[in-house]
Amino acid sequence: MSIPLLDLKAQYLSIKEEIDQAVLAVLDSSKFIFGPEMKRFEEEMALYCGTKHAIAVGNGTDALVIALKACGIAPGDEVITSPFTFFASAEAIAQVGATPVFVDVDPRTLNMDEAKLEEKITPRTKGIIPVHIFGQMADMDPILALAQKHQLKVIEDAAQAIGAEYKGHKAGALGDAGTFSFFPTKNLGGYGDGGMIVTNDDALAAEARMLRFHGCQTKYYHDEIGYNSRLDELQAAILRVKFRYIDQWNQTRAEKAAVYHQLLAPLADTHQVTLPFTAGSNKHVFHLYVVRTTQREKLMAALTERGVANAVYYPVPLHLQKALAYLGYQAGDFPIAEEACEQALAIPCYPELTQEQQEEIAVILLKILG
Ligand SMILES: *Cc1c(COP(=O)(O)O)cnc(C)c1O
Repeated sequence: MSIPLLDLKAQYLSIKEEIDQAVLAVLDSSKFIFGPEMKRFEEEMALYCGTKHAIAVGNGTDALVIALKACGIAPGDEVITSPFTFFASAEAIAQVGATPVFVDVDPRTLNMDEAKLEEKITPRTKGIIPVHIFGQMADMDPILALAQKHQLKVIEDAAQAIGAEYKGHKAGALGDAGTFSFFPTKNLGGYGDGGMIVTNDDALAAEARMLRFHGCQTKYYHDEIGYNSRLDELQAAILRVKFRYIDQWNQTRAEKAAVYHQLLAPLADTHQVTLPFTAGSNKHVFHLYVVRTTQREKLMAALTERGVANAVYYPVPLHLQKALAYLGYQAGDFPIAEEACEQALAIPCYPELTQEQQEEIAVILLKILG
């Protein structure tokens, strides 16, 4: 038995004709950068998220950097985010010269704990980046209320959460801006890099459009120092094909998660295991299905031995990353995030996974952890 964490080959084969056709059409048009595919994909994303604007960029990290910059975040400012996320969430803050400030996560959802947020706000705080980890949105209402009270910008890092919802609102649509990544393994993944910023703010959108193209509005006239960050036509064409399936694929992922939940129910009451928790206000799109266990090493060995791929998201919380040592955080500062890094393990959860495969995986978990 060999079960990958994600089966991109099976997914490609299931839509091969449409993808091949879209790619060939781009080759035939010989329009490779800033063409009609990107433009249409932007329109489709904005419509889907329910925002006025969508601005395609080169990757999800650039989406954060450009959104921060377009929000006016500058050196000397502080931006609060989660320590339990991919490095880029904090890296982008440092890239624009601001200081990442962390707040611990909620033990159930592993998203930013809004109850601990206000104490992190200082006169220098200018923004908050809630990260919708593993495909579930952070508790946005209290975050937005605090942002309004203290006049802070909110940028949703929705890299893992395209299509996720909070009280009926799509990920990315609630903050001043929302950012997405189309890295191949994301729920909507291209065949290379890609990213998107969505916003309802006209000025922010105009600024982001300028920043992604060398601070330029009129060709060869540069108003400010920007970036070279674009979504090419091949990626846009591929993503537009896959975008037609995103709701179906997200739905199937959620169904697979529900199957795991049922199969693994006998473990739910043991103190060795925590299964993923979905808050009542949320539609979770299960970018990753992550269990937490004190027996992680043992479980990893057993899964690997049986050919079941598994991966640790994330081994090191951001406040303990070497690159961020200058911030002066220490072990013990964010105990929930640190414990999650010691216990979290992703097991295969993707649309093409079969019931039989899930049952085989569950048997291993029940045997090792039961
Ligand atoms: C993947 C990811 C990013 C970065 O996206 P790239 O396209 O790889 O630059 C940012 N934040 C989170 C939470 C991610 O998972």
